[in-house]
Amino acid sequence: MYRLNNAGFESYLVGGCVRDLMLGKSPKDFDVVTNATPEQIKGLFKNCRLIGRRFRLAHIVFGREIIEVATFRGHHSDDESGKKLGQQDAEGQLVRDNVFGTIEEDAERRDFTFNAMYYSVADFTVTDFAKGREAIAKREVELIGDPETRYREDPVRMLRAVRFAAKLDMTITPRTGDPIPKLAHLLANIPPARLFEETLKLFLGGAGVNTFKQLQSYGLLTPLFPQLDAILKAPDSRECQFIYRVLENTDHRINSNQRVTPAFLYAALLWYPLEEHAQKLQAESGLNPHDAFNIASGEVIHRQVQRIMIPKRFSTVIRDIWVLQHRLPRRFGRRAFQLLTHPKFRAGYDFLAVRGEIEGGDTMELADWWTQFQHADAPKQKKMLTQLRQEEGGATRPRRRRKRPAAKRSEGDA
Ligand code: ATP
Ligand code: MG
Repeated sequence: MYRLNNAGFESYLVGGCVRDLMLGKSPKDFDVVTNATPEQIKGLFKNCRLIGRRFRLAHIVFGREIIEVATFRGHHSDDESGKKLGQQDAEGQLVRDNVFGTIEEDAERRDFTFNAMYYSVADFTVTDFAKGREAIAKREVELIGDPETRYREDPVRMLRAVRFAAKLDMTITPRTGDPIPKLAHLLANIPPARLFEETLKLFLGGAGVNTFKQLQSYGLLTPLFPQLDAILKAPDSRECQFIYRVLENTDHRINSNQRVTPAFLYAALLWYPLEEHAQKLQAESGLNPHDAFNIASGEVIHRQVQRIMIPKRFSTVIRDIWVLQHRLPRRFGRRAFQLLTHPKFRAGYDFLAVRGEIEGGDTMELADWWTQFQHADAPKQKKMLTQLRQEEGGATRPRRRRKRPAAKRSEGDA
């Protein structure tokens, strides 16, 4: 900011970082705005990369840290010559948005009042264009401008309203919240790749349970996860409780700095739709359980990615977690040991454990067995397997299995 200022430009910190500092939280990143154009910014910084199509931005790279520097954005209405500047589609959604403007215009174009505060190092003041301070004092999420117009311009703002309310423990004002249920369907027009990024922020921000419940109450989950519609209508069902429990665990892990993977969450969200679909396929087309499950896995993921893109590196893990749910019950002979070395054993086991908590019965017993087995020493493991054989009806089954060519079977397992 000093370098921009010294070169004769204005520059400010804006958005989430100013808001979070005012809330006494530490910002997760810092966004800068300036009246310098992207090209002028590039001229001042060797470590500058220009990025973006919808929003053209400069990234200033400091080692592993990136500071996003944007040029003030102006209004997208027609200019005096009648030329269309910003482009909108039939639903009022902005498709291109690269008009530079003044700081006042930039502030009006931001989403919430608490996100339109600008901090300057020229005089160390905060300029508050939209009563953001007041919103912070009242802990209110309040959209700038006419809510319906703003949601139509960019439907993702509906998700952002809920995200900030949940994460910052604020309430959405009626003016800002009331139009959401009616406009929630507009999320179907957002590219699946952008929605993937947004859902990560929604569910992996440490307030996933609260976010999920508020999304549900505003009718925002249906356009994101059409396959969950039936389940969500029964919040006390074990299917719904399972999702809440996984989100709860995820929040706990994030808030204690443990690693989380989106794959686990998506595997959980789609687990019961998968089971239902697999059963239906089995009943309707006489497929065996194994084939039905495989086909259903592919189809459930395929339906989901129509709305929210799931990168391959995650969808393969989702399927691994699902397949393990069917392999973890089959422990005879060397299988139990092979499963322990499966690269996704940990995720599969954790998943089974949550299912066990919710489903009880056999699933809980199986999860407990694995809890013990993985921590047991070799003699204890052997004993557990012997015991299992006795409980499951004598030694006949495993012995029969062992007669088959061992190499071939383990290949098939892998
Ligand atoms: P976070 O702490 O999650 O990063 P943030 O407010 O910084 O919150 P960003 O997505 O980093 O969120 O956006 C930075 C700023 O850009 C916002 O504070 C807001 O002023 C503006 N902004 C972001 N997305 C939109 C949008 N869809 N519509 C209008 N303004 C937006
Ligand atoms: Mg930010």
